[in-house]
Amino acid sequence: MEYTTFQDLKLSALGLGVMRMPVIDGDSARIDEEKAAEMIACALEGGINYFDTAWAYHGGKSQEVLGRLLAPYPRDSFYLATKFPGYEQEFFDDPARIFEAQLEQCRTDYFDFYLIHNLWEKNIDTYLDPSCTVMDYLLEQKAAGRIRHLGFSTHGSLETMERFLQAYGQHMEFCQIQLNYLDWEFQNAREKVELLGRWDLPVWVMEPLRGGSLAALPERAVKQLSALRPEGSLAAWGFRFVRNVPGVTMILSGMSNMEQLRENLRLFSAPAPISPDEQETLLGIAAELVKNRLPCTACRYCTEGCPAQLDIPALIGLYNDHVCSEGVTASRSRSLRTSLPETGPDACIACGKCESVCPQNIKIPDVMASFAAYLAE
Ligand code: SF4
Ligand code: SF4
Repeated sequence: MEYTTFQDLKLSALGLGVMRMPVIDGDSARIDEEKAAEMIACALEGGINYFDTAWAYHGGKSQEVLGRLLAPYPRDSFYLATKFPGYEQEFFDDPARIFEAQLEQCRTDYFDFYLIHNLWEKNIDTYLDPSCTVMDYLLEQKAAGRIRHLGFSTHGSLETMERFLQAYGQHMEFCQIQLNYLDWEFQNAREKVELLGRWDLPVWVMEPLRGGSLAALPERAVKQLSALRPEGSLAAWGFRFVRNVPGVTMILSGMSNMEQLRENLRLFSAPAPISPDEQETLLGIAAELVKNRLPCTACRYCTEGCPAQLDIPALIGLYNDHVCSEGVTASRSRSLRTSLPETGPDACIACGKCESVCPQNIKIPDVMASFAAYLAE
């Protein structure tokens, strides 16, 4: 295992994200603890020392199960990270209740790493409101040693990140962003990395393979990459890109079986430099992949007024992933269908309310119609 340095700590360059563990009967809230225990043992044995959970992962069961499975190991043999679930307004009223419950569920009396979970356009104003006590509470916990290192994760815009950093940047020690070669330009990952560099904040990476989509590229892209490095897997290409981004200190991967875990341990067993030509090829492939994608930033301005109560950004995300992986595999098409929310795009009545508030000017009713037509085929 390759290691990186964070302050006085030696962190495994790869961290295990506990959000896609093996489950029973396809039910995300029923983690298969026997298999998960094997994975955790294998991860520790392979040198992974960072485990990342959150309040909502696995239908709210991730923290509890991870706490149980890590309990047999010495507390100083791993670093444990979880997050304040600030995406739900109700949690802001009583941060102590959430934090104490997290400690109890994780069977610990301190968190090595604690993050504001998904700072974004919908909660930044709450965090910055002088009456909000969350940040004061978390800073008190840090002073008391119950949080060793405080940071934030975000899918928000650069502007939102900047607003938060202006207010709390002096207290932040790291920041977790979605970073991979597809999002380098598409979701402004490059500019986010630059911003964090200006604040001297190490980068924690989430979605290095974009939920696995970068491990299933169109045939043309696969040929381009094989010509450069015949022995390299698509996953290896994705990890190599992020490992070479300046400031990257932790790469989280939500592994869901032993095969993925073993492969990832192998990939992180040695340095993996990338040449400028290889980088350029990956970014060229990314540009091709995002050509038809919709620039939804998941700000959710569109969802409140939707009479059909569609989860519009989630549907657009799936639509994008479909476009992105078009023509790849039948299994990807099946996985698209199983990922659909309960209310599908065919429920859209084309009222246009969403389009009128979308800052990205996405023609949402047209997208829903085209997505529904695709699914009906
Ligand atoms: S156009 Fe469709 S998606 Fe948009 S608000 Fe109306 S029903 Fe909802
Ligand atoms: S569709 Fe537009 S308004 Fe809705 S979440 Fe995406 S960017 Fe925001």
